Amino acid sequence: MWAMTTPSFRSDRGAGILVLGLLAACGSADVDTAAEVADGDARGSLQFRLPLLETHLFELVVGVDHDPVDHSDGPMAEALLCTAYDGRPFPACYDEHRGSDYILEGAFDTMDAGSATILAAAGGTVIDLADGNYDRCHKASDGVDCDGNPGDPNYVIVAHEGGWQTKYWHMQNGSVAVAVGDDVACGDPLGKVGSSGYSSQPHLHFQLEDEEGVAIDPYAGEYSQAETWWVEQRASSQLPVDRCEE
Ligand SMILES: [Zn+2]
Repeated sequence: MWAMTTPSFRSDRGAGILVLGLLAACGSADVDTAAEVADGDARGSLQFRLPLLETHLFELVVGVDHDPVDHSDGPMAEALLCTAYDGRPFPACYDEHRGSDYILEGAFDTMDAGSATILAAAGGTVIDLADGNYDRCHKASDGVDCDGNPGDPNYVIVAHEGGWQTKYWHMQNGSVAVAVGDDVACGDPLGKVGSSGYSSQPHLHFQLEDEEGVAIDPYAGEYSQAETWWVEQRASSQLPVDRCEE
């Protein structure tokens, strides 16, 4: 997220490169602008599948922060202060993160070998997208380095019944498989996982928002809402089931 680029974070090297890598794994002022996480209890009948096809390429999920305190003006160590839907701390989340990051195992090697396919989490209409942007942004000592290219993400936004939107960020250059105005069904391919925009390694940033643009954590839990937005949320894995609602 954008807050990681603040000078206070740059000046504190104590948290180490792994932490920095995870912190910088994601982000964009375009997706992470919500001031708070909404109560997602007004879900209605909308349900989501895991928005990825090759489930074996994913394990680590860095999710939404439910800690109401914004630590982004503090030292870098405070960027670790977060509360995931089930109460877990970093690396289950990080400060002010508004989406769920699905980290591609094998990073750029896996991306170069064909990457992984991003799928529509539910049916809807494509309302916005971008493609053609550099997709090999990577971590640097002060955040993210796009090798001299603009740090603009490739992305797709799908609008769903009820006014909710899902956002799919950091896609591979040239991979976007839909057009604005397309109706998509749950499970339709949208593109491929990349590292475009403010991204330190290939991953999907999946973000659910209400009609006012406020982020909602699709995961149910003690610190989130009571009912999951996933077709099925599992206790044994941070990956929800990879099937659409029946
Ligand atoms: Zn993210």
